[in-house]
Amino acid sequence: MHHQPDKLSIKDWRYKWFQWPVLLAISWVVMTQVHEWGHVVGGHLSGGHLVALDVWPWHLPYSIFEPDPQPLITLWSGLLLGIAAPFVVALVFRMPEVWFVSHFCWLANGSYISLAWISGDSYLDTTKLLEHGAPAWSLGLYCLVSISVGYVGIKRAIKDLMECKAKPQMEVGESK
Ligand SMILES: [Zn+2]
Repeated sequence: MHHQPDKLSIKDWRYKWFQWPVLLAISWVVMTQVHEWGHVVGGHLSGGHLVALDVWPWHLPYSIFEPDPQPLITLWSGLLLGIAAPFVVALVFRMPEVWFVSHFCWLANGSYISLAWISGDSYLDTTKLLEHGAPAWSLGLYCLVSISVGYVGIKRAIKDLMECKAKPQMEVGESK
């Protein structure tokens, strides 16, 4: 009987460490998908015609509208829906796992826009936004807000997940 708590704590330990790669994989897929579908929704609603779409998560997803009459709406939709949609889902579920995914999206979108700014690659969102006349301050503000919110939020979500209070207490109680 006294072996029971050891077994449970190993199980709990495994659960705790296994959750990180799983959560990161889910976060990556959610981040890339919601961002790209945000472009698709924005492009469609602003009168564009979708001619190419690749959203398989093991590629870097892309979508091409031809024509794309309001390119700024198409571009901003990916950036804004990419953080807003997972945030709304997290507000509904209020679970640390869902907050982790939501804040990963804030952090990753902000990091992507800033890194693309530095790299200057012509097919990345930052370069396209600047080419189509988005003011640099709006991109700077986007990066500042999304990286700050994402950084603070993901730290809190990791802390909540590490503490993992309810689960082991419940299992130890049941074993008696
Ligand atoms: Zn994009």
